Amino acid sequence: MLRTHTCGELTIKDAGKKVTLCGWLQRSRDLGGMTFIDVRDRYGVTQLVFNMETNAALCEAARKLGREFVIKVKGTVTERSNKNAKMTTGDIEIIAEEFEVLNASVTPPFTIEDNTDGGEEFRMKYRYLDIRRNPVKEALLLRARLATEVRNYLNAQSFVEVETPVLIKSTPEGARDFVVPSRMNAGEFYALPQSPQTFKQLLMVAGLDRYYQIVKCFRDEDLRADRQPEFTQIDCEMSFIEREDILNTFEGLIRYLFKTIKSVELGEVPRMSYDDAMKFYGIDKPDIRFEMKMVEMNDVVKGKNFKVFDDAELVVGICAKGCAEYTRKQLDELTEWVKRPQIGATGLVYARWNSDGTSKSSVDKFYPAEEQQKWFEQCGGQQGDLILILAGAKDKTRKAMGELRLEMGRRLGLMNPNEFKTLWVYDFPLLEWNEENKRWSAMHHPFTSPKTEDIPLLESNPGNARANAYDMVINGVEVGGGSIRIHNKELQQKMFSVLGFTPEEAQSQFGFLMNAFEFGAPPHGGIAYGFDRLCALFGGSDGIRDYIAFPKNNAGRDVMIDSPSAISPEQMKELGISLLAKL
Ligand code: ASP
Repeated sequence: MLRTHTCGELTIKDAGKKVTLCGWLQRSRDLGGMTFIDVRDRYGVTQLVFNMETNAALCEAARKLGREFVIKVKGTVTERSNKNAKMTTGDIEIIAEEFEVLNASVTPPFTIEDNTDGGEEFRMKYRYLDIRRNPVKEALLLRARLATEVRNYLNAQSFVEVETPVLIKSTPEGARDFVVPSRMNAGEFYALPQSPQTFKQLLMVAGLDRYYQIVKCFRDEDLRADRQPEFTQIDCEMSFIEREDILNTFEGLIRYLFKTIKSVELGEVPRMSYDDAMKFYGIDKPDIRFEMKMVEMNDVVKGKNFKVFDDAELVVGICAKGCAEYTRKQLDELTEWVKRPQIGATGLVYARWNSDGTSKSSVDKFYPAEEQQKWFEQCGGQQGDLILILAGAKDKTRKAMGELRLEMGRRLGLMNPNEFKTLWVYDFPLLEWNEENKRWSAMHHPFTSPKTEDIPLLESNPGNARANAYDMVINGVEVGGGSIRIHNKELQQKMFSVLGFTPEEAQSQFGFLMNAFEFGAPPHGGIAYGFDRLCALFGGSDGIRDYIAFPKNNAGRDVMIDSPSAISPEQMKELGISLLAKL
């Protein structure tokens, strides 16, 4: 080793020791006769002292060192007179006796400090410098710890880690595939896996019983802030189980991670049907850190000559506790908020129960005070509360109210970032109607089993069939999802036919899976967690990029290595492909 210690470990106990440290020059300060240099490595920062009086030549030389120079310093650990309680090494400094420049550095394009002046694209371009900064480094260390603990938990439960191939064949999991041309089979293409779904099922047919993999998945989708074209899943599958076994096993995983990594005891993890989630929260991933459930009000508002409510399929309200004081201006502003195209409501009705006992609504003309009292009763409102009401077509109105509920939660500070509320949502619809292609598509994926009692609906009313699928939601974020799978050839064939595949298409694309089902496939099911998102959640951040060593930007580009990029005509020829036109 070039060093005796790291830059993060020396304390007052080491006073008097002769040490050698290596690291990057973080900061340098000349104070008259002394020069102080902070030297940094992955483990921390240590202060070096060079003294003009005792060693002028050394001190002069040290003054010439620039930011991010890589240095090796020998010296003696000494107690500081001016201690810094914020640093682990803050009680000591190293009186430098000699140093060596291991490598020089040009001036870094942004300051390598916790709070940097570098914009995001710039930081991605020089990602290796960004990772020198504490927040990004800590995010990667957290990720590594999480991965280790995931393995610890699953290994202890007899899960076996198996790698599945990356060059595979297109699987319809809802997104577009990334494809890779094959040189040896010119004119043919591999696809990169959207997930190892069919492989993990085949491993169950193979008898491995419990599988997991922390695995890269690839989806060619339009990117949003928390999406990357390549992302990581904790991918799992189990045999001879029912839904409850999966929910218990993976609730156990999340509990274990919160306990070991954050010292947080997860409370009870409630279970909610998709139908209830939509009815009470207007979203399939409810944030249950706060209550404010949606309340259907058709029975108390209809028939009073207010056309908007009379014509609406659904009238739904929420009760904002203690908000009767909202001013006209605040209410107008909320009305504008729900009318934005993203939310799409046509208007907002309110009623407030004032502190003087009177009540006031925006539709007093149709609903006198005693009618408004019925609303408060229905919504569980009390004096001092405000009721907000939306009306319209059922699904649309539920969604809009779901958004308004979240917005009120934000405005009222009801979403405590240090509180973690986990929830299972299950019994999703099996299918969704794709208006564009005029056919059904699988809401989860085509390998998800319908609920046994709903199998006959595949013939009679596919839209009403429920899937034996489940999502884990933490604080309104979907962190994982999976299902009990189809393990029988006939049912899988039936499913493909409902999805509009001819028997030939189904056989050519999924023959490998359906054939395997003929060789004694065990009942099985599984789940996959979005690992990047889980890391961000544990790190207390909204974005996943800091938790990925080398992320891509919103256009799917790696700006550091400048990819994607054109390939040479020779490479194209070898692959037997040409471009349609010069783009
Ligand atoms: N393969 C699924 C996905 O990527 C997860 C699962 O069903 O296990 O969403």
